[in-house]
Amino acid sequence: MSSSASVTRPGRLLTQNREMRAIGVWNWTLPALAARLPDGRTQVTCPAASACARICYARNGTYLFPAVKAKHTANLAYVLEDLPGWEAAMISELSAPRLAGKFIRVHDAGDFFSDAYTLAWCRVMRACPQVTFYAYTKEVRRFKRLIEPGPPENFLWVYSYGGREDSFIDPDRDRVADVFPDEDAITEAPEWSSQEASDLLAVLGPRLVGVPANRIPQFLKRMGGRRLSEWQAEIDAERAHRRQRHLRLAPNDPSAPAPTPEARASVNDAERHAA
Ligand code: SF4
Repeated sequence: MSSSASVTRPGRLLTQNREMRAIGVWNWTLPALAARLPDGRTQVTCPAASACARICYARNGTYLFPAVKAKHTANLAYVLEDLPGWEAAMISELSAPRLAGKFIRVHDAGDFFSDAYTLAWCRVMRACPQVTFYAYTKEVRRFKRLIEPGPPENFLWVYSYGGREDSFIDPDRDRVADVFPDEDAITEAPEWSSQEASDLLAVLGPRLVGVPANRIPQFLKRMGGRRLSEWQAEIDAERAHRRQRHLRLAPNDPSAPAPTPEARASVNDAERHAA
């Protein structure tokens, strides 16, 4: 995709904040949720986000500083305007000797927002066996379709609750992360282990990963003492209920929009649960 209002290419693609520097991890990041590009286009960067967007650490604090936002937008613009060029630049940067043996976190914020972008990452990973990549993702269906059948050997990922695709996570098999109100709540959930000591535990520690919520008062208030998965389940149930009601109220109304297969599936689910 080309644009007449291109932004400056970022000098360095990978960064490190204090927390990541302490554990020797490098980050690649995009704007959280969505961003407006200089040419006026809007790109959604977390298509499966849902409840998580209401407590998104990356839509708060330093992430909102103009210079930080501009850097993340420049990263996104690079991917959208010149994916092959970005891929080559990423491989070149990852080939620096100082990164050999290191971990790269794909997305401090943002997600695998398209098939093309996800497959570009797979090519980068295969071209850079000297580093290990990891990611949290809510793109459950995309990963089950594109990644799970043949993942790059140096890629570890964890599905994270709080998105539109939570119901596609297999809690008995998948590595999965959930946000808890605090560290005590994780301790009280015997099967879950906290990743508080190191972000790498999300992919190297036990399979059920507890993440304590950020201590941001308005976010904690919104969570209302629930786990993110519980909040998302409430949103999904409410959505299913609304769809069911809509179908019941206008079964033969030609002006009513046709229910999508997803809507039908969630109505069926709601009916099964109600039975
Ligand atoms: S997927 Fe992550 S970055 Fe995107 S809105 Fe949710 S919490 Fe924020």
